[in-house]
Amino acid sequence: MRSRYCFLLLVTAAVTASCKVPPPAGPPLRAITFPVAGFVHYTDSFGAPRSGGRTHAGQDLMGAKGTPLVAAVDGTVTSVRFGGSGLSGNSLTITDAEGWRYLYIHLNNDRPGTDDGAGTYEQAFADGIREGQKVRAGEPVGFLGDSGNAENTGAHLHFELHSPDGAAQNAYSTLRAGVTGAWSAEQLASSRPYGLVDSVEMADGAIHARGWAIDRATDDPVEVSVYVDGNPATTGTADQDRADLPVAFPGVGPNHGFHVTTPAPPAGVHRICLVAHNAGAGGGSSRIGCTDTTV
Ligand SMILES: [Zn+2]
Repeated sequence: MRSRYCFLLLVTAAVTASCKVPPPAGPPLRAITFPVAGFVHYTDSFGAPRSGGRTHAGQDLMGAKGTPLVAAVDGTVTSVRFGGSGLSGNSLTITDAEGWRYLYIHLNNDRPGTDDGAGTYEQAFADGIREGQKVRAGEPVGFLGDSGNAENTGAHLHFELHSPDGAAQNAYSTLRAGVTGAWSAEQLASSRPYGLVDSVEMADGAIHARGWAIDRATDDPVEVSVYVDGNPATTGTADQDRADLPVAFPGVGPNHGFHVTTPAPPAGVHRICLVAHNAGAGGGSSRIGCTDTTV
């Protein structure tokens, strides 16, 4: 209707100015870091038909299994799904300060070099990633894969952009404009927590992990997770007295020791790792030690 109206104006009075209509509102453009730190290819597939009468609510970034995925924005990890069945498979959501949500779907679920569906949590998600974790744009959050209904279509990141009202928006332009490049090793090293595992012992049917962890961005205690065979088991707080720490690290308070216990896994040799969670405004968590323990 609008174009016909303009045409009539043109033939009668040639008032071109009155024909100027605003361009149609395009999809919203968000400033992001490109969510895959590696080569991908993709075409605009938003709205394409999918099985069961669905339409495609995201963009499929086709790439190699295991390629690191990074946070598109500064924000908070507001959901993490691991090991579930269904369409999405392993997935996570980051929400930014304005309520926009960035969905990462089909994260890796395989052990390296296989399509066995037996991948561990740490083969799907970067160290420290869990609900509530703050992240910064460019920080590693997970690994590209083919979980969920991507098992039959090849490894890709299905990436969705949701406006604060919950509506899925076409992320194509946002991705095209996205800044590429993950954080440099120096950037990550300068902002991650650090620490040490002093001991991992079996006692009273539990694994006891002791050590200390510090986030240089804050003197608040950091949280420490025990991973058993690649999966997070128990999280504790590094807030116990360690009078040796202020001596070794001037300016650091003494209350950064931890003693985290987790129920013993079945008899056998198990890989026990400790991850210190970033306690500041994001910037990467740290694996502070691993050891093989016989139960
Ligand atoms: Zn998709």
